[in-house]
Amino acid sequence: MRLSQYFLPTLKENPSEAQIVSHRLMLRAGMIRQSSAGIYSWLPMGLRVLRKIEQIVREEQDRAGCQELLMPTIQPAELWQQSGRYDDYGKEMLRIQDRHGRDMLYGPTNEEQITEIVKSEIQSYKDMPKMLYHIQWKFRDEVRPRFGIMRGREFLMKDAYSFDMDYESSKRAYNKMFVAYLRTYDRLGLKAIPMRADTGPIGGDLSHEFLVLAETGESGVFVHKDVLDFEIPSDDVDYESDLQPIVDKWTSLYAATDEKHDESAEAELGDQLLNARGIEVGHIFHFGTKYSEPMGATVTDQNGDEVALQMGSYGIGVSRLIGAIIEASHDDGGIIWPESVAPYKIGLINLKSGDADCDAACDKLYKDFNAAGIETLYDDTAERAGAKFNNMDLIGLPWQVVIGPRGLKNGMAEVKNRATGEKEEIAIDQLLAKFS
Ligand code: ATP
Ligand code: MG
Repeated sequence: MRLSQYFLPTLKENPSEAQIVSHRLMLRAGMIRQSSAGIYSWLPMGLRVLRKIEQIVREEQDRAGCQELLMPTIQPAELWQQSGRYDDYGKEMLRIQDRHGRDMLYGPTNEEQITEIVKSEIQSYKDMPKMLYHIQWKFRDEVRPRFGIMRGREFLMKDAYSFDMDYESSKRAYNKMFVAYLRTYDRLGLKAIPMRADTGPIGGDLSHEFLVLAETGESGVFVHKDVLDFEIPSDDVDYESDLQPIVDKWTSLYAATDEKHDESAEAELGDQLLNARGIEVGHIFHFGTKYSEPMGATVTDQNGDEVALQMGSYGIGVSRLIGAIIEASHDDGGIIWPESVAPYKIGLINLKSGDADCDAACDKLYKDFNAAGIETLYDDTAERAGAKFNNMDLIGLPWQVVIGPRGLKNGMAEVKNRATGEKEEIAIDQLLAKFS
């Protein structure tokens, strides 16, 4: 993309409405604009990052054997009346009437909807188990939308649902998601720690929230330091094998949010305890027959008996993750994107646009990078050098390739690594090989 043509409305000043760094930087880097409280438009740069995160989440769900579908945002109230949640959910739910006076709602989550689908289509144990997910916008009328997309009213969520005949099988589904989550956050360049969470009236230990450490996080976290060094399951992990040892390892040491923490256990940890703040980026939860029973989602087992399905739900805050990544990865100059989610890999800076040699060299590089599938944002504008550098630092692409008249005489470019700040001179004709 040529910057001269790109719709990238960056801001030099810090917007006063933004309280935390990720919100400030998303506004300044031209990624989002507020429409109304907690509701945002995604501008091209922001959308590119959102799509990349979505894709990593998708690949790891697929790898774990979860199948993607897409459910609507608008749901009929009847479904929620059947589960009993229509009245319980309260003011966070946006309730709508259609022109015929039928009660509808904008989905804050999809347990009822997916239960209805599975109930209608699956009758026999032969078609079990199933794991299904979608990546869809949700609406929750939060009391205090804040921190930009971090606590929005409209936000993008990956929500998966598992359906099993019995608890043991349901636990296998839970473990698959647990492992998929570890891998997902790792690929996003994040350290997310699974912490025991509330299971509500069902009890048991199958509920974990995943939190990313960040000073601006809304939750207090208490965690054994060694959890931070646990190994992430590799991409050849066999999801059909017994994953319990991985889950056991990751849950072997103390890790709790302020809602569930235990002061006496913490006292025993002494200086191995890390007390910090965290952002909740995901939640996995087994809830048994909470929805299948009232909604009549049963299947016949081998003996011909009707069995209510064991269910779990598994959420990832896809849009919130952008905020979490920026909170975890930025400096005074701006965002530092991990390569896996960067909107472009390279920012190509022409230090002297209008100079025939610089233009020719940059145009050729830009063409070659594109042909090789290397995503490049090419600053071909007439801005002065300082402004170009500041802008590239702000938007945080992993690599900056700088072409100026002086280096060009010797066939050299300056390459800067945004994360480390390191600069090196590299022959222009070697750049393609370096970045391919
Ligand atoms: P929170 O405690 O932060 O309100 P929740 O318990 O309501 O979260 P879930 O219903 O489990 O969240 O939703 C799954 C994931 O969706 C959360 O882990 C979080 O990452 C994300 N999420 C929830 N609410 C919001 C929101 N208002 N804005 C952005 N992301 C959200
Ligand atoms: Mg909530």
